[in-house]
Amino acid sequence: MKLLQIIILLFLNFQAFGQKVTYNHIVDTADVETKKVMMLFENYLASNPHNKGKNEFWNIEEQQKHKNYDFLESEFQPSLYMGFPVHVLSVKFRNEICQIKAQFSYCKADGSPYVLAIANYIAKKEYRKFKLFNALTVNKQTWNCTTVGVVDFYYPTYHKFDYQKAQKLNNFISETCNNFGVKPKAFEYYLADDYDEIQVLKGLDYYIGMGGQSKPSGKATDDKVYCGGLGEYYPHEVFHVQIDEHFPNKHFWVSEGVATLLGGSRGKSLDWHIKRTNLYLQKHPEIDLNNMLKLTNLDGETSYHYVLGGLIAKKILDKGGWSLLKEFMSSGTTDEDYYNAIEKYLEINKTELNDFVREQLEIESKKITVANNVYKK
Ligand SMILES: [Zn+2]
Repeated sequence: MKLLQIIILLFLNFQAFGQKVTYNHIVDTADVETKKVMMLFENYLASNPHNKGKNEFWNIEEQQKHKNYDFLESEFQPSLYMGFPVHVLSVKFRNEICQIKAQFSYCKADGSPYVLAIANYIAKKEYRKFKLFNALTVNKQTWNCTTVGVVDFYYPTYHKFDYQKAQKLNNFISETCNNFGVKPKAFEYYLADDYDEIQVLKGLDYYIGMGGQSKPSGKATDDKVYCGGLGEYYPHEVFHVQIDEHFPNKHFWVSEGVATLLGGSRGKSLDWHIKRTNLYLQKHPEIDLNNMLKLTNLDGETSYHYVLGGLIAKKILDKGGWSLLKEFMSSGTTDEDYYNAIEKYLEINKTELNDFVREQLEIESKKITVANNVYKK
């Protein structure tokens, strides 16, 4: 997801485009209902939806239920509505429901298109007037839903629901919320074998970054978790949905580090990431961990913010328990705040980080090997 954010940040300047809407080939453009839907969509795009304010073109029901009612808005950084020209590919009616398929893209200097996303919206009448709805709201009706504890699990019909894993997730929620002193909240959890099945359910036929090998992948929003490849137990994202909002004053590495410490990353435990990072860094003495916040991905499996963020969180938890970890969770959002927090809680100066982190990775790796050997006996 990080690579995606970097690509997208390059497009911040595209605000200059304004929100231009064009049409590919729309069948029935003379039809009154089709025209109404086209106007509705244009008006919505012109209403600065990235501001997430009250919106007369979006249905009232979803606006009342969800603070961030347009679920696709936050799929891209800084926003799906960052200014890419929108090209409507089709407007299709089926009974009372109309599906709008739109491409967010621009034309590069060499004439080839650069496509950010192909997204679907639903237009449906609310009090006799067309309003926009999330594709997810309609599409999820075709999936199965089982509620266990505070979690509504949505899954495709081919999936055999695993109650044990669902219960394990609820246990994780109770324990984690208890440790952080917050109340567990109900949320929707979408799971499938492959993450792109969930993207389609949400209404994304295509998004930049799609493709490659199918790996466990997840995303949390304020009231939903989406995850592919790990069934009913994807604790990392569940940590985000339950805990993040209660500790807004924290660095990105704190959030990802604690999530990885408690819930692993990409289906693997923090220990697993520590072992391979240790081996990797031994082969790369030139990597400067005094500036570790500048590092992003070690490779396709491990990211520095998960593994080193997780290691730092572990050291703080080991030293001062949950109360110290909670303090760390409110230690500020800037890079300077993060380095200062390490100095305050672990007494390690920024200039000592390279030695400290490498040493701790080695120590932790040895502990893991010993623990594994004892376990095997
Ligand atoms: Zn995360």
